[in-house]
Amino acid sequence: MKNYVVLKFGGTSVSSRARWETIASIVRSRIEANETPFVVCSALSGVTNLLERLLVEAPSGTHHETLATIEGRHKEIAAELGVPFELVSNELTELGRLALGASLTNEVSPRLRARALGMGELMSTRLGAAFLESIGVESEWMDARQHLKAVALPNEPDAKHYLSALCDYSADEELAAALKPRVAVVTQGFIATHAHKPGETVLLGRGGSDTSGAYFAHKLGATRLEIWTDVPGMYTANPREVASARLLKQLHYEEAQELASMGAKVLHPRCLAPVREAGIPLHIKCTELPDVEGTVISGDSPDFGAQVKAISSKGGVMLVSMDTLGMWQQVGFLADTFDCFKRHGLSIDLVTTSESNVTVSLDPAANVLDPATSEALLSDLREFCTARMIGPCAAVSLVGHNIRAILHQLGPALEAFGEQRIYLVSQAASDLNLTFVVDEEHANKLVQRLHELLFHDRVSDALLGPTWNALFHPDGDSDRLDDDVWWFSKRSELLELAKDGPAYVYDVSTIQRRAEELQGLGLDRVFYAIKANPNPEVLKTILDFGFGLECVSPGELEHAKAMGASERLFTPNFAPKEEYISGFESATYLTLDNLHPLRHWPEVFAGRDILVRMDPGHGRGHHKKVKTAGAQSKFGIPPEQVEELADLVKRHDINVIGLHSHVGSGITYAATWSETAMFLAGVADRLGSVRILNLGGGLGVPEKLGDKRLDLSEVKETIAAFRQARPEFELWMEPGRYLVAESGVLLGRVTQIKEKEGGRFFVGLDIGMNSLIRPALYGAYHPIVNLSKVDGSPKIVADVVGPICETGDVLGHKRRLPVSEEGDVFLIASAGAYGYVMGSQYNLRKPAIERILR
Ligand SMILES: *Cc1c(COP(=O)(O)O)cnc(C)c1O
Repeated sequence: MKNYVVLKFGGTSVSSRARWETIASIVRSRIEANETPFVVCSALSGVTNLLERLLVEAPSGTHHETLATIEGRHKEIAAELGVPFELVSNELTELGRLALGASLTNEVSPRLRARALGMGELMSTRLGAAFLESIGVESEWMDARQHLKAVALPNEPDAKHYLSALCDYSADEELAAALKPRVAVVTQGFIATHAHKPGETVLLGRGGSDTSGAYFAHKLGATRLEIWTDVPGMYTANPREVASARLLKQLHYEEAQELASMGAKVLHPRCLAPVREAGIPLHIKCTELPDVEGTVISGDSPDFGAQVKAISSKGGVMLVSMDTLGMWQQVGFLADTFDCFKRHGLSIDLVTTSESNVTVSLDPAANVLDPATSEALLSDLREFCTARMIGPCAAVSLVGHNIRAILHQLGPALEAFGEQRIYLVSQAASDLNLTFVVDEEHANKLVQRLHELLFHDRVSDALLGPTWNALFHPDGDSDRLDDDVWWFSKRSELLELAKDGPAYVYDVSTIQRRAEELQGLGLDRVFYAIKANPNPEVLKTILDFGFGLECVSPGELEHAKAMGASERLFTPNFAPKEEYISGFESATYLTLDNLHPLRHWPEVFAGRDILVRMDPGHGRGHHKKVKTAGAQSKFGIPPEQVEELADLVKRHDINVIGLHSHVGSGITYAATWSETAMFLAGVADRLGSVRILNLGGGLGVPEKLGDKRLDLSEVKETIAAFRQARPEFELWMEPGRYLVAESGVLLGRVTQIKEKEGGRFFVGLDIGMNSLIRPALYGAYHPIVNLSKVDGSPKIVADVVGPICETGDVLGHKRRLPVSEEGDVFLIASAGAYGYVMGSQYNLRKPAIERILR
């Protein structure tokens, strides 16, 4: 029993002396454990690309510089390893001859291509094997082509056999007999011998070295296949795109296969079948961090229950949408159309059908879709249907066992798709993946959002390992928002301020920036809704921009007047009669939002100008409690009462100069306000006297990292389009939150920490729901940061709570935080709107005070 273990090392793992020393120590430790290592290597990183370039240049005879670069790379590494460069001179000579041949015949045949591209692996292994010998690791170089033979497939084109062959990997006693115990074999990935022409090289496809490793593992009946690469394993998402992606410690073959096929680049999709058939576990390990456990892929990974294990995304996907106009029912429709794809050599990946449309996706990895092919395909398809190409799109897939059982949990995750177009949804019959095809440009955001929703509050366990950052930058950040938020750059001032006790701190320059943005919207008037934050310094800052103030009570009106606001808009709701009477004295404009006052106290309004608040019938907003339109909402006059309104105002000589609608708060859908304008213009046409349309407030700010930011330029565009259609109206808006939310943070200190069973942490602060009630009242999310340890990597998952005697006194649930201590300063972000002003004396505790930062 020789206990084979196959170790495959990728390009970056064989490209320096340090990495070869790691290889040597891995090989030694396997030998010490009584295993026989069988080492499969890639070419030096970048060399396969250089060889590709060489083949592009060779037919025109311009390849000499590239050949010299390739030679130089190997000379360098040979010197670094202290082995003779002459070990690769045969390969380099042959490479020169192949290139010369191509320049003479003016073409590169698949045969020549395979031969030339295979040189990279031959050279890296010659140098590596010599290095191992030189430092006393007994090893033997082996030509992989002696033992790995391609199989000929029926109808296989010649080019495919040379460039992307499949091999016979049945148990190979001859190979086993050739190996000596305790001696490491060093051989090549990527290459094999032609099925019928001994002596000719074929390739296993780009990235095929993994597959070589799997073939050899199966041939030898190895106890394990280890794939050593530059990442420590498979992740819950691509760690280069999602910083908080988590290492997956264990996966079933099927799941790994699905992930590899759906775009995860760590493993070549073809490498799983051979090991899976023989039940050989596959370990993914990182040469840079050899001690990290990595991912173990096997047939007996524990059952973690139904859950999403990873999110992958694959770009460059083209869709072909075929509208069938009733032909769908016809016998053979699918056969006819699919035959067109076959004729053009295109393989279909995903398919969805409806009564009148069939949409399929074409995987870029499996197809060559040049413009000529696309055109030819479409014109063939048009014989049967109207066909068009959509793309480039991206396929975003959720992967995991038994996805069907957890579809219901995906509800909130699917909100992430809110305003984006989903072209195609496909649930694999294997129940291992759910795929959404969206515009390529949206894919990254979508992956971020889904990942946040599905993984952000998960602690490390048998399935989930550390994040990429935690492994490679153990002192780095992870949960912090962008570096360019104001409170990150002013954190030392904030830490100083925090010494004086709990406080809301407002940053004046942030308010100014938002005000400038609103000025740029091209509105006739902006009123700031002062209920969001009536702090005098905040108001002064905003009044400097020439904005009016929108008030909802006599108290706010009085405050606005005292602050010197010349334009005051009063919007009472279910207020007593006296408030309307006094309102006409102290406000510039008054908005009425019910017919009751006109029916019962018309004398208050007779002869006056008013605005009227309408209910467009549907609300928007980030939470049902902040939707301010629709039959459920107490606000606004429904459109069916417009006739009565017209009667009443006519009868009492009241002049409706404006219409108003405010449909909700925290809205990120850019066309909301132009849609409101359109609705109000329709009502205006029925009344006649209207010259002002007040489109309300509600402009949203991002709640969480990765949330979509409301695109103000789009708001501006849609409003401009409305204006062009209906230039007769003056357009107003009355935002509150947008001006102030991000300018404010709430600072508090850690009082106590508690740990309960199951690793549940509570971090207690000296601020609670009496200072900030939004999380308890609306379930609002506020980013929470330990400002004293802003560079600390997240280590615990904790509920952040206050000192109020209420179970609901929670500022944030399940937040990933660094290990925190009594006295640390915590920052609650985006607290500038509806924060201090909603504070209370509950429990007779004083809420946080207000401070200004300039
Ligand atoms: C609260 C309110 C606003 C401001 O809403 P934001 O979401 O803060 O922009 C505007 N108009 C009316 C009538 C309001 O009640």
